[in-house]
Amino acid sequence: MKLTICHLYPDLLDLYGDRGNILALSARCRWRGIEPVIQRASLGEDLDFLGMDILFLGGGSDREQGLLVQDLMRRENELRSAIESGLVVLAICGGYQMLGKYYQMTSGEKIQGLDILDVWTIAGAKRLIGNVVVDLDENVLGIDSSPELRTLLGFENHSGQTHLGEGMKPLGKVSFGNGNNGQDGEEGVRYRNVFGTYMHGPLLPKNPHFADLLLELALQRRDPNTCLMELDDRLEKLAHETMVKRLLKQP
Ligand code: GLN
Repeated sequence: MKLTICHLYPDLLDLYGDRGNILALSARCRWRGIEPVIQRASLGEDLDFLGMDILFLGGGSDREQGLLVQDLMRRENELRSAIESGLVVLAICGGYQMLGKYYQMTSGEKIQGLDILDVWTIAGAKRLIGNVVVDLDENVLGIDSSPELRTLLGFENHSGQTHLGEGMKPLGKVSFGNGNNGQDGEEGVRYRNVFGTYMHGPLLPKNPHFADLLLELALQRRDPNTCLMELDDRLEKLAHETMVKRLLKQP
C-alpha cells in the first residue's frame, strides 16, 4: 500500500523545522509497511490535489507568505474541491493563515488568503512565542478509540492573531500558552479533514496520536474499514506526558 504526502512550498514555508512533520508521517507509515510517496512542489509547479492523500503546509515569515500568495490563488478551485472531498490537510501557522480569508500584517497590508477556512488573521503588536499545551476537543478526537494522549504539545511564534468564524471548530482549549489569538483560549481549527494550528515543534513527532489521526483519516478516505496497526509509542508518550506535566507544573 502507498500513501501520497505532498509538501507544498517546502522552500518557503519551513520555519522551525516544520519538515519534521513529513519525516514523522513517513516513518509512521514505513513502520506499518505502508510506502510513503513524498511529493514536493513550490512556485509555478503543477500539482494533482485529487491524487494525493495528505497535503502539508508549514509556517513562514510574512515576506515568504507574500511571495507565494499569487501562486496559491491559482490553485484555489482544485484545492477547495479536494478539501470538500475529504483531502487531509495539515497547515501550520503561516500555512494555516493562508487557508483563511486574509492575514493583515503589522504594516496594515493584507495578504489575501484562499478563504477555504472561515478564519481571519490580524497581526498584533506583540509576538506570541512559547510552548503550547492544548486539551483536544471531541471534534478532533472523534475517533472511536480514545487515545491515551488527549493533549497536543507544540511551540508557537506568530504575530498573527486568528479568529474563527461560525461553523469553524477549534482543535481545543489552551491550557498553556496563547493559541490562535491569546484572547479566546482556543487553538487551531478543524474543518472537514483540514487541521490548522499555530503549533510548530515540529508538531507531529511530539504528538504521535495526532500523526496517526491524520494517517487514519487519509486511509479511511479510500477504504472506510481501514484501521491503523498500533505502534509501540511508549517513549513518544513518555516524552509528551513529561513535557505537559512540566509546563502545567503537575507532579
Ligand atoms: N508570518 C506569520 C506571523 O507572524 C506566520 C509565522 C509563522 O509561520 N511562524 O503570524
